[in-house]
Amino acid sequence: MTRVVVVGSANLDLGVAVPHLPAPGETVLGDDVAARPGGKGSNQAVAARRLGVETRFFAAIGDDRFGDDVRAALAAEGVPLDHLTTVEGVATGVALIVVDPEGENTIVVAPGANARLADGALAGLPAALDQGTVLVLQLEIPPATCLAAARHGRAAGARVLLNAAPLPDPVPADMTVLLREVDVLVVNEGEALRLSGSTADWPTLAAALRGLGPDAVVITLGAQGAVHADATGTATHPAYPVDAVDTTGAGDSFVGALAASLAEGLPLAEAVRRGCAAGALATTRMGAQSALPTRPELDSFQN
Ligand code: ADP
Repeated sequence: MTRVVVVGSANLDLGVAVPHLPAPGETVLGDDVAARPGGKGSNQAVAARRLGVETRFFAAIGDDRFGDDVRAALAAEGVPLDHLTTVEGVATGVALIVVDPEGENTIVVAPGANARLADGALAGLPAALDQGTVLVLQLEIPPATCLAAARHGRAAGARVLLNAAPLPDPVPADMTVLLREVDVLVVNEGEALRLSGSTADWPTLAAALRGLGPDAVVITLGAQGAVHADATGTATHPAYPVDAVDTTGAGDSFVGALAASLAEGLPLAEAVRRGCAAGALATTRMGAQSALPTRPELDSFQN
């Protein structure tokens, strides 16, 4: 079945624009607060869904008002709510984002219910997976849940895609165990350097990271595009030239489009090309989830 299944985080992002970032102990008056759905899991699920692929999302929210907001946002995008677990007595994940006029920011994440996404929440996962599924994971949920999800993916013959972000520094020792259950690894430049412990050129690094387990490795390079490696070799896709106004969410847009394209059966190089197009489009609009392209936008951008 052509389907993207995401197991990951769902947050409410609370953003405030300020004239300058506060120093320790300082109070700064900002603009009105803007509440937007966020979290890598939620962003990537919405990114895939907007491209017209059936998408399931396994996540945990709290029994609070922010949880209601997260639900409403997902429902509005056509992401089914069946696999959303509500954890009683726990807050929904929140990111507190403060941005200055130069676009410099500070972010505090309170994981809340995301840290409580336990194996039990994955009870419906095996039934959602088969050989046509791409299972998408990130690192904003407990490592044990991530590993359990990857193993369900492997057992079902699904393609397991890990976006190893945010990657803790130093890299946890058990990352090697998770990577052995991964088919497609997606990392940005910093994550690639830390995972490999090397400073070789990007194609060499991508090829070397395959040695950790994944059959395919993609390194996103911001305004330089992306490099990918699999058993057939390595190649680079340049970025699409755009007038970028806000790069927040470019990585999640890339991963959602890559997953949707692989689920549709496209080869890696073509899926990376569509990921680059979706990432570039996301930079042309403010915000993360709100900036994710739709299928018609992506198709007409590429032609
Ligand atoms: P992350 O936010 O995870 O670090 P990147 O910044 O590497 O991710 O962005 C993901 C992808 O989005 C890149 O591979 C690229 O294709 C696209 N992208 C990001 N920034 C730009 C930009 N300024 N211009 C064009 N494409 C971009």
